[in-house]
Amino acid sequence: MTTPSEPHRLPSDTDNGLLLVISGPSGVGKTTITRAVERSIPGSIFSISATTRPKSDADTDGVDYHFLTDEQFDAKVEADEFLEHAVYVGNKYGTLRAPVEVQLQRGRLVILDIDVQGAKQVKRAMPDAFAIFILPPDEATLLERLRSRKRDSDEAIRKRFEHAQTEIASARESGIYDAYVENDDLDRAIAEAVRLVTERRDITAD
Ligand code: 5GP
Repeated sequence: MTTPSEPHRLPSDTDNGLLLVISGPSGVGKTTITRAVERSIPGSIFSISATTRPKSDADTDGVDYHFLTDEQFDAKVEADEFLEHAVYVGNKYGTLRAPVEVQLQRGRLVILDIDVQGAKQVKRAMPDAFAIFILPPDEATLLERLRSRKRDSDEAIRKRFEHAQTEIASARESGIYDAYVENDDLDRAIAEAVRLVTERRDITAD
């Protein structure tokens, strides 16, 4: 039955909606893997988060993030517009609830690239969400990748590296991740993530 709050059903709609959470420390290749999963699975949608972190040269507003001021972000928290939100290395990040709910009702695979704190909130709100954590092959490789991005200052790299170590530990402690994918080889890791999601969708659709 259609309630007034539900969008009109489109011919392309299915009942196969799945919320996919992808987490992992920065520098692990998570964004590349997330975007590759999005391209590989027809009808999937990448959820564009809101953030207060400064926009880097690599970012496009409205594509990678919605860049907000602290005040704009806090107003959305007040208005309960976030499905989840968290502070990551001093900046605020959040997933807007409405677009996620609309696309799930449309049967889409909705992909969230969010941290462990956010993933915990999502799993509480939506226990059917499927959560994958991307792991680096080892710490030395992770540090090397953070440095080679040439995106952050030495101080920011140090903070991200420390945060990465904490994040891997808290991911394991949280017990919320359905699968861990090691990015030892990018193509292999992408193929594994796509396989896991496809299998999960097939099971859920039955
Ligand atoms: P970056 O600044 O490198 O783009 O992202 C930093 C971290 O914030 C990443 O671990 C990313 O997954 C996480 N992140 C991005 N968007 C969100 C969000 O909407 N919510 C939460 N909780 N984390 C996010």
